[in-house]
Amino acid sequence: AKNAGRGCIRYFSESLTQAARDRFHIESRLRQAIPNNELRVYYQPKVDIRSGRIIGAEALVRWQDPVDGLIMPFIFIGIAEETGLIKSLGEWVLAETCRQGKEWIDAGLLPLNLAVNLSAHQFHHGNIVRTLSDVLEITQFPAEYLELELTESILMQRESEMVETLNQLRSKGVSLSIDDFGTGYSSLAYLKTFPLDVLKIDRSFVMDIEKDEDDRAITATIIKIAHTLGLKVVAEGVETQQQLEFLDAHGCDMYQGYLMGKPMPAADFITLLKRINH
Ligand code: C2E
Ligand code: CA
Ligand code: CA
Ligand code: CA
Repeated sequence: AKNAGRGCIRYFSESLTQAARDRFHIESRLRQAIPNNELRVYYQPKVDIRSGRIIGAEALVRWQDPVDGLIMPFIFIGIAEETGLIKSLGEWVLAETCRQGKEWIDAGLLPLNLAVNLSAHQFHHGNIVRTLSDVLEITQFPAEYLELELTESILMQRESEMVETLNQLRSKGVSLSIDDFGTGYSSLAYLKTFPLDVLKIDRSFVMDIEKDEDDRAITATIIKIAHTLGLKVVAEGVETQQQLEFLDAHGCDMYQGYLMGKPMPAADFITLLKRINH
């Protein structure tokens, strides 16, 4: 029994060491991913529910590792946030999305609304307003086509400073959305405190619309409240026609989800866009 116990402890600490080693490994490789040109932006179509047309996309980062292949954000976004690497990663995604957007505009594919995710770190370390101005200046992407997605973890901190920063961002011409709405705390208060344009209903409500009466009530109510406050509403994670029909019946403005398309490389996105919008 004694031996088994020791074995157990040894096994446990070895797996912890392994986890730490994996983290360190990911971190040091992630540090090289930007200079080595291994990050990619994938685009998930955003659809106008009334017309059925694709009106834009959300930019979502992928890591194309030469050995491991395509790595999804849940593997590295957390590590990037904890180590501060998210700052350069986030700036890269913003710049690359605007560069790509400008290329699309020049090719006559207008108007396309592109949304980029921001992380809390980008607000508290470095000047996000300045970064945005620089990127818009360098890429010449029109600010009115850019949307910045904010999570509650961003809005949670230093309220009056945050309102000021968001107003500055908006004065550049971009729109602001609250992401994953309904998953955190005191979300309703955020809607009246912060200058927001768009509310994104979290996938966790949308996915159970068919089965769960509570989720139907919550979703319908969120849409109503958002509209009363002058916000547009995007439903996330729409996978079925039935979900879409419910959202349409309740006046939801836009949706994203596998029903129209997963996040995909730029070229595939444009192929889909041309097919759907013809
Ligand atoms: P998010 O911002 O909530 O992005 C939506 C996620 O839901 C994406 O996962 C997307 O692929 C997934 N999704 C969309 N439609 C459906 C659907 O119909 N069904 C299902 N099952 N899933 C759907 P992804 O691309 O793996 O990204 C995960 C998260 O990583 C994002 O969640 C976001 O929080 C973070 N992330 C991704 N790119 C960036 C970035 O450039 N910067 C920052 N700060 N975070 C990012
Ligand atoms: Ca998002
Ligand atoms: Ca989301
Ligand atoms: Ca539920």
